[in-house]
Amino acid sequence: MYDLLSLYPTEIEELMASLGAPKYRAKQVFAWLKSGTHPRDMTNLPKELRERLGDAVRWSLPTVERKLISAVDGTVKYLFRLHDGECIESVFMRYEHGNTLCISSQVGCRMGCRFCASTLTGRVRDLSAGELLGQIIAAECDTGERVSNVVMMGIGEPLDNYDNVLRFLHLVNHKDGLNIGYRHISLSTSGVVPRILSLAKEDLPITLSVSLHAASDEKRSAIMPINQKWNIKELLSACVAYYEATRRRISFEYTLILGKNDGKEDARALGELLNRYFKPIGAPVHVNLIRVNEVKETEMVRGSVASANAFAATLEHLGITATVRRRLGADIDAACGQLRAARMGKTEDKWNENTEK
Ligand code: SAH
Repeated sequence: MYDLLSLYPTEIEELMASLGAPKYRAKQVFAWLKSGTHPRDMTNLPKELRERLGDAVRWSLPTVERKLISAVDGTVKYLFRLHDGECIESVFMRYEHGNTLCISSQVGCRMGCRFCASTLTGRVRDLSAGELLGQIIAAECDTGERVSNVVMMGIGEPLDNYDNVLRFLHLVNHKDGLNIGYRHISLSTSGVVPRILSLAKEDLPITLSVSLHAASDEKRSAIMPINQKWNIKELLSACVAYYEATRRRISFEYTLILGKNDGKEDARALGELLNRYFKPIGAPVHVNLIRVNEVKETEMVRGSVASANAFAATLEHLGITATVRRRLGADIDAACGQLRAARMGKTEDKWNENTEK
């Protein structure tokens, strides 16, 4: 059965043809999708066609299962329910330059990063392109506001769901669809090297964000099992290739964990490492520092703002721009995976407070 939200306009044409409808009907259908309209409510289609279309496709728009609204900054965290009952999370954040939605790419995750709540129960399944898109549509419907930026930093590893993610990127950028520019989309990866190299060839000016989190293989392997498959040298070489193909600045994410990777010598090692790879080719890089969100099961401890600022200063001193990420939605646990895990009884449940639905 076709997943209507996952289809390209040309595929909708084929589908409509199979239902005996003319080409222009496909354009009408595609135009409805960005507003989250179910086929039965596509009022400019003949009633009989609406019904047959509704019967012929799967409707994968997520529904709001629960939501938390931050009393501090209005950040909205959604627990979305998918057509098969699985749940994922998305976070809606308001910035001066527009609204950003952080979306999930898989139900669960199999990367096993030691500090992350999303991976506690492994990967259940990939999200379809329609389910990726559906998170944006559902958040726009619920808030009544437009999403102008998308970050793929929720649950899952986007490059472990490559084909669907690529299809999603083409769909979300479509001028008759949500029409979100590639430059307003970031994709975050734990470092799936062959897929970074594939992505470099796709010619999409999205921002690649790489979760580095340590400057030595010993430290990185201890917190990110993927480093045993593709080490820092392989990862950064892929980033160099990515830059050379796209000329897009690469962002590195670095989660600061007290006593593990947050010392001055760690900052110096990180700065020197990035300079070694990117200075010779004149590639700008940026480091996003995130103080770890404490997840009960992981025993990782968050350090102070002052030590994060000192870490940033050491990087700046070495010529690397770094920012300490502001924590939006701190009061609602707006970090990836924590709500789904709570739902599954894997971590503390915050649903009793701040819950709207
Ligand atoms: N799988 C992708 C994207 C999802 S995670 C990736 O690994 O990049 C988005 C970012 O949040 C990653 O940098 C991830 O390492 C980080 N992250 C995960 N758990 C965290 C936690 N408890 N505290 C701080 N950052 C965390």
